[in-house]
Amino acid sequence: MKVFKFGGASVSSLERIKNTGEILGSFTEGNLLVVISAMGKTTNALEKVAEAFFAGRQDDALLLFEQVKKEHLKTAKYLLVTEYLACEARLKDFFTEVEWMLHDKPVRAFDYYYDQVVCAGELLSTAIMSHYLTETGIENTWIDVRDIFRTDNNFRDAKIDWDYSLSQVRMHVLPALSGRMVITQGFIGATDENESTTLGREGSDYTAAVFANMLNAESQTIWKDVPSVMNADPRKFPEAQPIHELNYREVIEMAYYGAQVIHPKTIKPLQNKGIPLYVKCFLDPSLPGTVISNQRLKSLPPIIVLKENQVLLELSTLDYSFAGDEHLAQLYRLFDTLKVRPNLTQNGAIGVLCVLDDHPEKIEKLALDASGIFDVTVSRGLSLLTIRHYDEATEKRLTTGKKSWLKQQTAETLQVLIGEQAGA
Ligand code: ASP
Ligand code: MG
Repeated sequence: MKVFKFGGASVSSLERIKNTGEILGSFTEGNLLVVISAMGKTTNALEKVAEAFFAGRQDDALLLFEQVKKEHLKTAKYLLVTEYLACEARLKDFFTEVEWMLHDKPVRAFDYYYDQVVCAGELLSTAIMSHYLTETGIENTWIDVRDIFRTDNNFRDAKIDWDYSLSQVRMHVLPALSGRMVITQGFIGATDENESTTLGREGSDYTAAVFANMLNAESQTIWKDVPSVMNADPRKFPEAQPIHELNYREVIEMAYYGAQVIHPKTIKPLQNKGIPLYVKCFLDPSLPGTVISNQRLKSLPPIIVLKENQVLLELSTLDYSFAGDEHLAQLYRLFDTLKVRPNLTQNGAIGVLCVLDDHPEKIEKLALDASGIFDVTVSRGLSLLTIRHYDEATEKRLTTGKKSWLKQQTAETLQVLIGEQAGA
Protein backbone atom coordinates (compact mmCIF):
# COMPACT_ATOMS: atom_id res chain seq x y z
CA MET A 1 0.00 0.00 0.00
CA LYS A 2 1.41 3.36 -1.05
CA VAL A 3 0.16 6.93 -0.76
CA PHE A 4 0.87 9.53 -3.43
CA LYS A 5 0.18 13.24 -3.20
CA PHE A 6 0.16 15.47 -6.27
CA GLY A 7 0.16 19.23 -5.74
CA GLY A 8 -1.72 21.87 -7.69
CA ALA A 9 1.15 22.38 -10.16
CA SER A 10 0.89 18.76 -11.29
CA VAL A 11 -2.64 19.33 -12.63
CA SER A 12 -2.40 22.98 -13.69
CA SER A 13 -2.69 22.40 -17.47
CA LEU A 14 -3.82 19.73 -19.91
CA GLU A 15 -0.20 18.65 -20.42
CA ARG A 16 0.39 18.40 -16.70
CA ILE A 17 -2.79 16.38 -16.14
CA LYS A 18 -1.76 13.99 -18.90
CA ASN A 19 1.71 13.73 -17.43
CA THR A 20 0.28 12.93 -13.98
CA GLY A 21 -1.98 10.34 -15.64
CA GLU A 22 1.08 8.78 -17.23
CA ILE A 23 2.88 8.53 -13.90
CA LEU A 24 -0.18 6.92 -12.32
CA GLY A 25 -0.51 4.58 -15.29
CA SER A 26 2.91 3.14 -14.52
CA PHE A 27 1.70 1.98 -11.08
CA THR A 28 -0.79 -0.60 -12.21
CA GLU A 29 -0.38 -3.04 -9.34
CA GLY A 30 -3.02 -1.09 -7.40
CA ASN A 31 -3.12 -0.60 -3.65
CA LEU A 32 -2.38 3.03 -4.35
CA LEU A 33 -4.13 5.92 -2.65
CA VAL A 34 -3.74 9.19 -4.55
CA VAL A 35 -4.42 12.61 -3.02
CA ILE A 36 -4.63 15.46 -5.54
CA SER A 37 -4.78 19.20 -4.84
CA ALA A 38 -6.91 21.80 -6.55
CA MET A 39 -5.66 22.73 -10.01
CA GLY A 40 -3.03 25.48 -10.19
CA LYS A 41 -4.21 28.60 -8.40
CA THR A 42 -7.85 27.49 -7.97
CA THR A 43 -7.74 27.74 -4.17
CA ASN A 44 -6.69 31.40 -4.39
CA ALA A 45 -9.48 32.08 -6.89
CA LEU A 46 -12.04 30.44 -4.61
CA GLU A 47 -10.81 32.48 -1.67
CA LYS A 48 -11.71 35.58 -3.69
CA VAL A 49 -15.21 34.18 -4.28
CA ALA A 50 -15.73 33.64 -0.55
CA GLU A 51 -14.42 37.13 0.27
CA ALA A 52 -16.71 38.84 -2.26
CA PHE A 53 -19.72 36.87 -1.02
CA PHE A 54 -19.02 37.70 2.60
CA ALA A 55 -18.47 41.38 1.80
CA GLY A 56 -21.98 41.46 0.34
CA ARG A 57 -20.73 41.67 -3.26
CA GLN A 58 -22.90 38.79 -4.42
CA ASP A 59 -22.69 39.60 -8.14
CA ASP A 60 -18.90 39.70 -7.97
CA ALA A 61 -18.84 36.41 -6.11
CA LEU A 62 -21.00 34.74 -8.76
CA LEU A 63 -18.90 36.24 -11.54
CA LEU A 64 -15.65 35.09 -9.97
CA PHE A 65 -17.11 31.65 -9.47
CA GLU A 66 -18.23 31.59 -13.11
CA GLN A 67 -14.54 31.94 -14.03
CA VAL A 68 -13.63 28.89 -11.95
CA LYS A 69 -16.50 26.93 -13.51
CA LYS A 70 -15.44 27.85 -17.03
CA GLU A 71 -11.84 26.83 -16.48
CA HIS A 72 -12.79 23.41 -15.15
CA LEU A 73 -15.38 22.77 -17.85
CA LYS A 74 -12.87 23.78 -20.50
CA THR A 75 -10.23 21.47 -19.06
CA ALA A 76 -12.71 18.59 -18.98
CA LYS A 77 -13.85 19.31 -22.53
CA TYR A 78 -10.34 19.30 -24.01
CA LEU A 79 -9.25 16.31 -21.97
CA LEU A 80 -12.18 13.93 -22.24
CA VAL A 81 -14.21 12.29 -24.97
CA THR A 82 -16.12 9.23 -23.79
CA GLU A 83 -16.07 10.35 -20.16
CA TYR A 84 -16.97 13.97 -20.81
CA LEU A 85 -20.68 13.87 -20.10
CA ALA A 86 -20.30 11.85 -16.91
CA CYS A 87 -17.58 14.24 -15.73
CA GLU A 88 -19.59 17.32 -16.63
CA ALA A 89 -22.51 16.06 -14.56
CA ARG A 90 -20.19 15.58 -11.57
CA LEU A 91 -18.67 19.04 -11.92
CA LYS A 92 -22.12 20.59 -12.17
CA ASP A 93 -23.17 18.95 -8.93
CA PHE A 94 -20.23 20.59 -7.17
CA PHE A 95 -20.97 23.94 -8.84
CA THR A 96 -24.56 23.75 -7.60
CA GLU A 97 -23.41 23.02 -4.05
CA VAL A 98 -21.49 26.32 -4.02
CA GLU A 99 -23.93 28.44 -6.02
CA TRP A 100 -26.83 27.43 -3.86
CA MET A 101 -24.98 29.08 -1.00
CA LEU A 102 -23.80 32.11 -2.95
CA HIS A 103 -27.42 33.02 -3.64
CA ASP A 104 -28.04 33.33 0.10
CA LYS A 105 -27.03 36.16 2.38
CA PRO A 106 -24.13 35.58 4.79
CA VAL A 107 -25.39 35.15 8.35
CA ARG A 108 -22.62 33.00 9.81
CA ALA A 109 -18.92 33.70 10.35
CA PHE A 110 -16.61 34.17 7.36
CA ASP A 111 -14.57 31.03 8.04
CA TYR A 112 -17.65 28.84 7.62
CA TYR A 113 -18.39 30.27 4.17
CA TYR A 114 -14.73 30.11 3.23
CA ASP A 115 -14.70 26.36 3.77
CA GLN A 116 -17.98 25.73 1.92
CA VAL A 117 -16.59 27.52 -1.16
CA VAL A 118 -12.90 26.65 -1.08
CA CYS A 119 -13.43 22.87 -0.70
CA ALA A 120 -14.78 22.79 -4.27
CA GLY A 121 -11.25 23.11 -5.72
CA GLU A 122 -10.09 19.62 -4.77
CA LEU A 123 -13.48 18.03 -5.54
CA LEU A 124 -13.37 19.42 -9.08
CA SER A 125 -9.73 18.51 -9.79
CA THR A 126 -10.04 14.96 -8.49
CA ALA A 127 -13.28 14.37 -10.41
CA ILE A 128 -11.58 15.43 -13.65
CA MET A 129 -8.50 13.32 -12.92
CA SER A 130 -10.57 10.28 -12.04
CA HIS A 131 -12.56 10.47 -15.29
CA TYR A 132 -9.39 11.02 -17.26
CA LEU A 133 -7.81 7.91 -15.75
CA THR A 134 -10.95 5.89 -16.49
CA GLU A 135 -10.91 7.11 -20.08
CA THR A 136 -7.29 6.07 -20.50
CA GLY A 137 -8.04 2.61 -19.12
CA ILE A 138 -6.73 3.09 -15.58
CA GLU A 139 -9.25 1.62 -13.21
CA ASN A 140 -9.82 3.79 -10.16
CA THR A 141 -12.31 4.61 -7.43
CA TRP A 142 -13.07 8.25 -6.62
CA ILE A 143 -13.78 8.91 -2.96
CA ASP A 144 -15.20 12.09 -1.40
CA VAL A 145 -12.80 12.53 1.51
CA ARG A 146 -15.52 14.45 3.38
CA ASP A 147 -17.19 11.06 3.93
CA ILE A 148 -13.98 9.75 5.48
CA PHE A 149 -12.32 12.52 7.48
CA ARG A 150 -14.59 13.89 10.15
CA THR A 151 -13.33 17.08 11.77
CA ASP A 152 -14.37 19.53 14.45
CA ASN A 153 -16.08 22.74 13.35
CA ASN A 154 -13.05 24.98 13.71
CA PHE A 155 -13.47 26.17 10.13
CA ARG A 156 -10.30 26.91 8.13
CA ASP A 157 -8.17 25.09 10.70
CA ALA A 158 -10.23 22.02 11.45
CA LYS A 159 -8.84 19.13 13.49
CA ILE A 160 -9.37 15.56 12.36
CA ASP A 161 -11.43 13.32 14.66
CA TRP A 162 -8.90 10.52 14.58
CA ASP A 163 -11.00 7.61 15.92
CA TYR A 164 -14.06 8.20 13.77
CA SER A 165 -11.95 8.85 10.67
CA LEU A 166 -9.87 5.73 11.23
CA SER A 167 -12.99 3.59 11.36
CA GLN A 168 -14.20 5.19 8.10
CA VAL A 169 -10.82 4.54 6.49
CA ARG A 170 -11.00 0.88 7.52
CA MET A 171 -14.61 0.51 6.41
CA HIS A 172 -14.55 2.40 3.10
CA VAL A 173 -11.03 3.11 1.90
CA LEU A 174 -9.27 -0.16 2.66
CA PRO A 175 -11.70 -2.35 0.67
CA ALA A 176 -11.63 0.09 -2.26
CA LEU A 177 -7.84 -0.16 -2.35
CA SER A 178 -7.37 -3.88 -2.67
CA GLY A 179 -5.73 -4.25 -6.06
CA ARG A 180 -7.02 -0.87 -7.15
CA MET A 181 -6.27 2.81 -7.17
CA VAL A 182 -8.22 5.32 -5.08
CA ILE A 183 -8.37 8.99 -6.09
CA THR A 184 -9.30 11.42 -3.33
CA GLN A 185 -8.81 14.95 -2.00
CA GLY A 186 -6.50 16.47 0.55
CA PHE A 187 -7.05 19.56 2.70
CA ILE A 188 -10.79 19.08 3.28
CA GLY A 189 -13.09 17.19 5.63
CA ALA A 190 -16.55 17.52 7.12
CA THR A 191 -18.17 17.98 10.52
CA ASP A 192 -20.68 15.55 12.01
CA GLU A 193 -23.35 17.84 10.55
CA ASN A 194 -21.89 17.40 7.06
CA GLU A 195 -20.58 20.92 6.80
CA SER A 196 -17.38 21.07 4.75
CA THR A 197 -14.19 22.08 6.54
CA THR A 198 -10.60 22.80 5.52
CA LEU A 199 -7.44 21.91 7.43
CA GLY A 200 -5.31 24.99 6.67
CA ARG A 201 -3.66 26.14 3.44
CA GLU A 202 -1.33 23.65 1.79
CA GLY A 203 -2.89 20.94 3.95
CA SER A 204 -2.94 18.18 1.32
CA ASP A 205 0.51 16.88 2.31
CA TYR A 206 -0.90 16.44 5.79
CA THR A 207 -4.05 14.62 4.63
CA ALA A 208 -1.87 12.22 2.64
CA ALA A 209 0.25 11.58 5.75
CA VAL A 210 -2.83 10.89 7.88
CA PHE A 211 -4.00 8.36 5.28
CA ALA A 212 -0.53 6.79 5.21
CA ASN A 213 -0.58 6.47 8.99
CA MET A 214 -4.10 5.02 9.17
CA LEU A 215 -3.47 2.60 6.31
CA ASN A 216 -0.02 1.58 7.57
CA ALA A 217 1.32 2.47 4.14
CA GLU A 218 4.76 1.28 3.10
CA SER A 219 5.59 4.80 1.90
CA GLN A 220 4.26 8.23 0.96
CA THR A 221 5.43 10.11 -2.10
CA ILE A 222 4.92 13.84 -2.65
CA TRP A 223 5.21 14.68 -6.35
CA LYS A 224 6.48 18.21 -6.91
CA ASP A 225 7.85 20.36 -9.71
CA VAL A 226 11.34 20.46 -8.17
CA PRO A 227 13.98 17.74 -8.59
CA SER A 228 14.39 17.20 -4.84
CA VAL A 229 14.44 18.96 -1.51
CA MET A 230 17.20 21.58 -1.62
CA ASN A 231 19.31 23.07 1.17
CA ALA A 232 17.86 26.54 0.36
CA ASP A 233 15.12 28.06 -1.77
CA PRO A 234 16.72 28.19 -5.26
CA ARG A 235 14.66 31.28 -6.15
CA LYS A 236 16.50 33.21 -3.43
CA PHE A 237 19.80 31.29 -3.39
CA PRO A 238 20.96 30.23 -6.85
CA GLU A 239 23.77 28.16 -5.31
CA ALA A 240 21.21 25.86 -3.59
CA GLN A 241 22.16 22.16 -3.56
CA PRO A 242 19.92 19.09 -3.73
CA ILE A 243 19.71 16.91 -0.62
CA HIS A 244 18.87 13.30 -1.37
CA GLU A 245 18.55 11.97 2.18
CA LEU A 246 16.98 13.64 5.17
CA ASN A 247 15.40 12.52 8.38
CA TYR A 248 12.09 13.44 10.00
CA ARG A 249 13.77 15.56 12.63
CA GLU A 250 15.61 17.69 10.10
CA VAL A 251 12.53 18.25 7.95
CA ILE A 252 10.30 19.19 10.87
CA GLU A 253 12.96 21.71 11.94
CA MET A 254 13.29 23.10 8.40
CA ALA A 255 9.52 23.49 8.12
CA TYR A 256 9.36 25.09 11.56
CA TYR A 257 11.92 27.72 10.62
CA GLY A 258 9.93 28.56 7.51
CA ALA A 259 11.27 26.40 4.67
CA GLN A 260 8.40 25.80 2.31
CA VAL A 261 9.30 22.21 1.56
CA ILE A 262 6.53 20.19 3.10
CA HIS A 263 3.60 21.16 5.26
CA PRO A 264 4.92 21.12 8.85
CA LYS A 265 2.11 18.86 10.12
CA THR A 266 3.03 16.13 7.62
CA ILE A 267 5.94 14.63 9.49
CA LYS A 268 4.34 13.50 12.75
CA PRO A 269 1.87 10.94 11.32
CA LEU A 270 4.67 9.45 9.22
CA GLN A 271 7.32 9.48 11.93
CA ASN A 272 4.92 7.85 14.39
CA LYS A 273 4.72 4.79 12.15
CA GLY A 274 8.20 4.96 10.61
CA ILE A 275 6.77 5.47 7.10
CA PRO A 276 9.36 6.88 4.67
CA LEU A 277 8.46 10.00 2.72
CA TYR A 278 9.74 10.39 -0.83
CA VAL A 279 9.82 13.73 -2.62
CA LYS A 280 9.84 13.12 -6.37
CA CYS A 281 9.73 15.31 -9.46
CA PHE A 282 6.65 14.82 -11.63
CA LEU A 283 8.45 16.48 -14.55
CA ASP A 284 11.06 13.71 -14.54
CA PRO A 285 10.22 10.69 -12.38
CA SER A 286 13.60 9.13 -13.18
CA LEU A 287 15.36 11.69 -10.96
CA PRO A 288 16.28 10.34 -7.52
CA GLY A 289 14.43 12.96 -5.47
CA THR A 290 14.73 12.91 -1.69
CA VAL A 291 13.95 10.25 0.88
CA ILE A 292 12.99 11.31 4.38
CA SER A 293 13.02 8.66 7.08
CA ASN A 294 14.31 7.75 10.51
CA GLN A 295 17.85 7.32 9.28
CA ARG A 296 20.81 8.85 11.04
CA LEU A 297 22.57 11.28 8.78
CA LYS A 298 26.34 11.44 8.69
CA SER A 299 26.62 15.01 7.53
CA LEU A 300 24.38 17.63 6.08
CA PRO A 301 25.28 20.77 4.19
CA PRO A 302 24.28 24.05 5.84
CA ILE A 303 20.51 24.35 5.43
CA ILE A 304 19.39 27.90 4.82
CA VAL A 305 15.96 29.38 5.44
CA LEU A 306 15.21 33.04 4.85
CA LYS A 307 11.95 34.37 6.26
CA GLU A 308 11.28 37.81 4.84
CA ASN A 309 8.83 40.45 5.96
CA GLN A 310 9.73 40.23 9.63
CA VAL A 311 9.10 42.82 12.31
CA LEU A 312 11.09 43.37 15.49
CA LEU A 313 9.26 44.49 18.62
CA GLU A 314 11.55 45.95 21.28
CA LEU A 315 9.65 45.97 24.55
CA SER A 316 10.98 47.45 27.77
CA THR A 317 9.22 47.89 31.07
CA LEU A 318 7.77 51.34 31.67
CA ASP A 319 9.38 51.95 35.06
CA TYR A 320 12.72 50.19 34.78
CA SER A 321 11.45 47.18 36.71
CA PHE A 322 12.74 43.77 35.67
CA ALA A 323 10.85 42.17 32.82
CA GLY A 324 9.83 39.30 35.09
CA ASP A 325 7.37 36.47 34.96
CA GLU A 326 4.22 38.58 35.20
CA HIS A 327 5.25 40.84 32.27
CA LEU A 328 6.10 37.82 30.17
CA ALA A 329 2.88 36.01 31.10
CA GLN A 330 0.88 39.09 30.07
CA LEU A 331 2.78 39.31 26.80
CA TYR A 332 2.15 35.65 25.99
CA ARG A 333 -1.54 36.10 26.76
CA LEU A 334 -1.56 38.87 24.14
CA PHE A 335 0.08 36.56 21.61
CA ASP A 336 -2.54 33.97 22.38
CA THR A 337 -5.49 36.36 22.01
CA LEU A 338 -4.18 37.72 18.71
CA LYS A 339 -3.17 34.26 17.48
CA VAL A 340 0.39 35.30 16.72
CA ARG A 341 3.53 33.35 17.51
CA PRO A 342 6.95 34.97 17.71
CA ASN A 343 9.59 33.41 15.44
CA LEU A 344 12.35 34.40 17.85
CA THR A 345 12.45 35.98 21.31
CA GLN A 346 15.22 37.17 23.58
CA ASN A 347 14.81 38.25 27.19
CA GLY A 348 16.90 40.93 28.87
CA ALA A 349 16.86 42.65 32.26
CA ILE A 350 14.11 45.14 31.63
CA GLY A 351 13.12 44.18 28.13
CA VAL A 352 12.09 41.53 25.65
CA LEU A 353 12.81 41.34 21.93
CA CYS A 354 10.30 39.56 19.71
CA VAL A 355 10.53 38.82 16.01
CA LEU A 356 7.23 38.15 14.25
CA ASP A 357 5.76 37.81 10.77
CA ASP A 358 4.56 41.23 9.73
CA HIS A 359 0.77 41.01 9.53
CA PRO A 360 0.26 44.79 9.84
CA GLU A 361 -3.17 44.72 11.51
CA LYS A 362 -2.14 42.20 14.12
CA ILE A 363 1.18 43.92 14.78
CA GLU A 364 -0.55 47.28 15.25
CA LYS A 365 -2.98 45.73 17.70
CA LEU A 366 -0.19 43.88 19.50
CA ALA A 367 1.94 47.03 19.79
CA LEU A 368 -1.03 48.99 21.10
CA ASP A 369 -2.06 46.38 23.67
CA ALA A 370 1.54 45.81 24.75
CA SER A 371 2.02 49.53 25.31
CA GLY A 372 -0.02 49.13 28.51
CA ILE A 373 2.82 47.01 29.92
CA PHE A 374 5.91 48.10 27.97
CA ASP A 375 7.54 50.86 26.00
CA VAL A 376 7.25 49.55 22.47
CA THR A 377 9.50 50.15 19.45
CA VAL A 378 8.58 48.55 16.13
CA SER A 379 11.09 47.99 13.30
CA ARG A 380 9.85 46.64 10.00
CA GLY A 381 11.26 45.30 6.75
CA LEU A 382 13.66 42.78 8.31
CA SER A 383 14.52 39.19 7.37
CA LEU A 384 15.16 36.26 9.66
CA LEU A 385 17.99 34.11 8.40
CA THR A 386 18.26 30.61 9.85
CA ILE A 387 21.23 28.37 9.11
CA ARG A 388 21.09 24.79 10.39
CA HIS A 389 24.49 23.07 10.56
CA TYR A 390 26.07 26.44 10.08
CA ASP A 391 29.71 27.16 9.44
CA GLU A 392 31.62 30.40 9.49
CA ALA A 393 31.97 30.69 5.73
CA THR A 394 28.23 30.35 5.13
CA GLU A 395 27.37 32.80 7.88
CA LYS A 396 29.81 35.33 6.51
CA ARG A 397 28.65 34.92 2.92
CA LEU A 398 25.02 35.53 3.87
CA THR A 399 25.40 38.32 6.40
CA THR A 400 28.24 40.50 5.08
CA GLY A 401 27.08 44.03 4.35
CA LYS A 402 23.85 43.52 6.31
CA LYS A 403 22.97 45.03 9.63
CA SER A 404 22.52 42.34 12.27
CA TRP A 405 19.69 43.26 14.65
CA LEU A 406 19.67 40.14 16.76
CA LYS A 407 21.58 36.89 16.74
CA GLN A 408 21.03 33.57 18.49
CA GLN A 409 22.79 30.29 18.16
CA THR A 410 22.75 26.74 19.48
CA ALA A 411 25.19 24.00 18.54
CA GLU A 412 23.07 23.20 15.47
CA THR A 413 21.23 26.36 14.51
CA LEU A 414 22.19 29.96 13.95
CA GLN A 415 19.55 32.66 13.57
CA VAL A 416 20.25 36.25 12.59
CA LEU A 417 17.73 39.00 12.12
CA ILE A 418 19.07 41.09 9.28
CA GLY A 419 18.25 44.31 7.50
CA GLU A 420 20.05 46.42 4.94
CA GLN A 421 23.06 48.15 6.45
CA ALA A 422 21.93 51.61 7.51
CA GLY A 423 24.09 54.31 5.93
CA ALA A 424 26.25 51.78 4.12
N1 ASP B 1 -5.38 23.45 -2.48
C1 ASP B 1 -5.00 23.78 -1.13
C2 ASP B 1 -4.07 24.98 -1.13
O1 ASP B 1 -3.69 25.45 -2.18
C3 ASP B 1 -4.41 22.63 -0.38
C4 ASP B 1 -3.11 22.11 -0.93
O2 ASP B 1 -2.82 22.27 -2.10
O3 ASP B 1 -2.36 21.51 -0.16
O4 ASP B 1 -3.77 25.47 -0.08
MG1 MG C 1 -0.37 23.06 -3.02
